[in-house]
Amino acid sequence: MSQPHLPYTPRAVDALQALLNSVAEAGEFTDDYIMVLTTLCGQFGDLENTVVMGALRLLDMSDSVEKITAERSRRYLYKVRDIEMENMFYVCRPSQRYCSCGKFLQVLSSDAIVCEHVLAAQLTGALGALKESVVSDKDFLEHS
Ligand SMILES: [Zn+2]
Repeated sequence: MSQPHLPYTPRAVDALQALLNSVAEAGEFTDDYIMVLTTLCGQFGDLENTVVMGALRLLDMSDSVEKITAERSRRYLYKVRDIEMENMFYVCRPSQRYCSCGKFLQVLSSDAIVCEHVLAAQLTGALGALKESVVSDKDFLEHS
């Protein structure tokens, strides 16, 4: 049975942000949040449950998310690794609702909010567990 989830609307995005804020305040990610997250962005089409579970698996891996900031422009992106392939990374820009993974096209064509990489980046950020690097603007371009 597929559970309905909130479609991609300003309300759903606000609700996700509110959840991230309370994770940040609590400093931990408890099971209580999983239900809410699953309702918000857990399922879409045939990819049932993969977003939340995938993000949680990424959180359990060390160095799965890195925030890279350009020294001068202060632009930033997140590099998030693939769940299965250790040496495969995707570029995520949560504020622009973007991820370079193949699944993201399906996210955009559905009414889901995020893929597991963007969610993992947002949760890692909320937990204050981000690995951060500052690079020159030239090097930043190579990452993006
Ligand atoms: Zn992705």
